[in-house]
Amino acid sequence: MQPTVKEFVQKIRKELSDVYSPHEAFQLAWLIFEHLFGWSKTEMMLNDHTKLNDSEHLFVQKALERLKNHEPIQYILGETEFFGLPIKVNSSVLVPRPETEELVEWIIQSVPPGKPVDVLDIGTGSGCIAIALAKMLPTAGVRAWDISQEALNTAAENAHINEVDICFEQKDVLNLSSSDVKPFDVIVSNPPYVREAEKELMPSNVLNYEPHVALFVSDSDPLLFFRAIAEYAEAALKENGKLFFEINRDFGEPVKKLLAGYGFKNIELREDLSGNCRMVKADKPVRGNHEGSD
Ligand code: GLN
Repeated sequence: MQPTVKEFVQKIRKELSDVYSPHEAFQLAWLIFEHLFGWSKTEMMLNDHTKLNDSEHLFVQKALERLKNHEPIQYILGETEFFGLPIKVNSSVLVPRPETEELVEWIIQSVPPGKPVDVLDIGTGSGCIAIALAKMLPTAGVRAWDISQEALNTAAENAHINEVDICFEQKDVLNLSSSDVKPFDVIVSNPPYVREAEKELMPSNVLNYEPHVALFVSDSDPLLFFRAIAEYAEAALKENGKLFFEINRDFGEPVKKLLAGYGFKNIELREDLSGNCRMVKADKPVRGNHEGSD
């Protein structure tokens, strides 16, 4: 027999109780019904006597089984929101994080309004950063790279859904050639920065479902991607150009030192809303001056 919405919400709470708190389980139930019926939370509560038909029941039941296996809800529903924009996700891309929204906010505040800036997003994944920037900075020309063709396909679909023009290219930032050096006003990257040693501390919903190529870096060289991107940015940024990174909270000072070594100026670290050192901004070095920075 098909359950009502209310019965199913109760079932989710009960069956997920060893994985999620009652509040989280309620939130997950709502995301499922929002996806199915477009309901707000209030609408879900007002309509909780609605009976689910066969296909709806099958959908919610399957979603519940996947949640029990700790799969992120965003992969189950195939979509999420980033910066208020719809973003499709699948196992080839990371689920966009709220702290990355804060990085985008910082970039938008740092670009003079109405200026036709050239922007590059390195390791774009779902395309969330590039798409939010293209949307919020309509005069910007946005280019985005990723090593994974599957990720680029997802990012291109997301750009289409959000009606923005972005030039996507498959590139390995560790193997760039001189022809890749083009002038940019802003270069941004959220590269892999989680050390292999941190694996055992990671929740299973991240570890078992998110693409490791986007997350992990070897313990012996955790700044590998930051070094490659800083070197590229040093060559490619225009005068007054800016480099932005999302970083591992344990590596604020080492990233700052690395950037100073490439001559970057005004290097600024920022915490995310959870109080973790999570973002860096730096200005293009003046040519011929590699004396370090502040
Ligand atoms: N912030 C992500 C996490 O905590 C990691 C993203 C990355 O490696 N760039 O899982």
